Amino acid sequence: MRMNRVVGRFAPSPSGRMHMGNLWSCLLAWLSARSAGGGMVLRLEDLDPDRCRQTYCDQVMRDLEWLGLDWDGVPVYQSKRTELYRQAFQKLEQQGVIYPCFCTRAERLAASAPHRSDGVAVYDGRCANLTAQERRELSRTRRPAWRVRVPEQEIIFIDLLQGGFGENLARDCGDFILRRSDGVYAYQLAVVVDDADMGVTQVVRGSDLLSSAPRQIWLQDLLGLTHPEYGHLPLLLAPDGRRLAKRDRDLELGRLQEKFTASELVGHLAFAAGLTDRPDPITPRELLPLFSWEKLPKEDFTI
Ligand code: GLU
Repeated sequence: MRMNRVVGRFAPSPSGRMHMGNLWSCLLAWLSARSAGGGMVLRLEDLDPDRCRQTYCDQVMRDLEWLGLDWDGVPVYQSKRTELYRQAFQKLEQQGVIYPCFCTRAERLAASAPHRSDGVAVYDGRCANLTAQERRELSRTRRPAWRVRVPEQEIIFIDLLQGGFGENLARDCGDFILRRSDGVYAYQLAVVVDDADMGVTQVVRGSDLLSSAPRQIWLQDLLGLTHPEYGHLPLLLAPDGRRLAKRDRDLELGRLQEKFTASELVGHLAFAAGLTDRPDPITPRELLPLFSWEKLPKEDFTI
């Protein structure tokens, strides 16, 4: 029996217009939370100043509203929450698990075995054991990024859709970056701090982030935070089998809006989700009584 009210979240990265894949995750995150009578919060993941723009944030909110997806309270901007991330970072620093990494991008690639499940290379930890003297010397010419030292430990959790999933952090992931050399806090740290601070109990997102969950669960433990439940959705693929990306302009919301109404788009997605028998127009609100995790597909599919 669930003791606490579900609180779900939208966590878009405002680095461009939303595409069909974002709509898919947003619709299902909203349906899951709202069909359980739960709350829904909005966080704009605008940490990267080079990629994110206020106009994209405004557009994301207009697009969610256009689709008929609502949220509670005011939107949260990660760019305004640096102090919270700094505090969490400091807490980890006090636990002695953080170290400066002076590797350049080229060195990082050379220092890595390319077999992490999300396609990113596993860092071999070459900066983990530098002496104080070596650090001083290197910091004369380079500003370090900061990594967290991960244990040889299997982190396992039960995903709402994918079932049991685990990763050995040292083997499958490696020491990962919590703060970039330009001072920007990394997604992995910010997401953990924010989900806890915003009272999020349920994280529904694309399965491209499945392999991030063990890292996030481990960080939650280090920071003494509770674990939300996770549901990782299958990805929508482009007709040639690739993952959808922002460059797939035809499936970007601006283009889609020229051809379809919100109800038509939601109808397509609801049918793909197995919630309806036909791809007929329907609103998110009308879908609420039809939502169930059991109906959702587990495999990636072409839209
Ligand atoms: N901001 C991320 C994205 O748009 C989602 C992060 C998350 O859901 O944890 O891909």
